[in-house]
Amino acid sequence: MTGDVTGGPLVRIRGLRKSFGSQPVLDGVDLDIRRGEVTVLLGPSGSGKSTLLRSINHLERPDAGFVEVGGELVGYRYQGGRLRELGQRAITRQRARVGMVFQQFNLFPHLTVLDNLVEAPVAVHGRPRSGAEAKARELLDRVGLGGREGAFPRQLSGGQQQRVAIARALAMEPQLLLFDEPTSALDPELVGEVLAVMKDLAESGMTMLVVTHEIGFAREVADTVVFLDGGRIVESGSPAEVLTRPRHERSRAFLAAVL
Ligand code: ADP
Ligand code: MG
Repeated sequence: MTGDVTGGPLVRIRGLRKSFGSQPVLDGVDLDIRRGEVTVLLGPSGSGKSTLLRSINHLERPDAGFVEVGGELVGYRYQGGRLRELGQRAITRQRARVGMVFQQFNLFPHLTVLDNLVEAPVAVHGRPRSGAEAKARELLDRVGLGGREGAFPRQLSGGQQQRVAIARALAMEPQLLLFDEPTSALDPELVGEVLAVMKDLAESGMTMLVVTHEIGFAREVADTVVFLDGGRIVESGSPAEVLTRPRHERSRAFLAAVL
């Protein structure tokens, strides 16, 4: 609606509200994510973190407020002065710009590692298979999995599967990557290899929104830390501000519990 404003935030969320039944889950969220920055989203279980991430991809419809990515309203357009939901093709096109990495990896179990990476670029972007494969091999090298192209997900460790999932998201050349507790399902000794890949991505300039309880990662990698509680952002600032000197009693209690 406003067009892509160079220098504006990549993601602009304003007044976002969402209830399930009578339960408000997002209660008026305002958030900007600037290009090339890493935002870590913290908050207790049930505070609305996953719902907020899903809203950015229009996997949840807002009750009020809006999300813009690259200056474009997500999920809707104005027609004759009224807001109308986009059709499936337009929604798919918007979602292709935003990669998502989940706690449970969500790889296609019946496809090889290589085919997991090749499927969407070919099906959604219509890329030629040979080019998509070359790109996939490059990305697998980048996440430390060169040589595992022919493996099936079940033959890999959790840490390796999550690195494949990250490479698969990158294969779509997204403008933005969303991570929803990417290391929460991993054995502790496998967490580091996934965080290292995420840190490398951050250093390469990828714009990222990361839900995690890994406070060390937040301290080291985040540009901005946001604390969500009861569907509201109660603190937002640099890691030093939010992690070292939290102002809100709820964020203090949360940090005391996870540190
Ligand atoms: P978080 O990721 O911070 O743990 P969620 O966004 O998953 O929080 O969920 C926030 C609240 O919304 C929880 O109470 C959850 O049970 C509820 N919720 C999430 N999705 C749904 C849904 N599809 N239907 C009903 N309730 C939901
Ligand atoms: Mg969640």
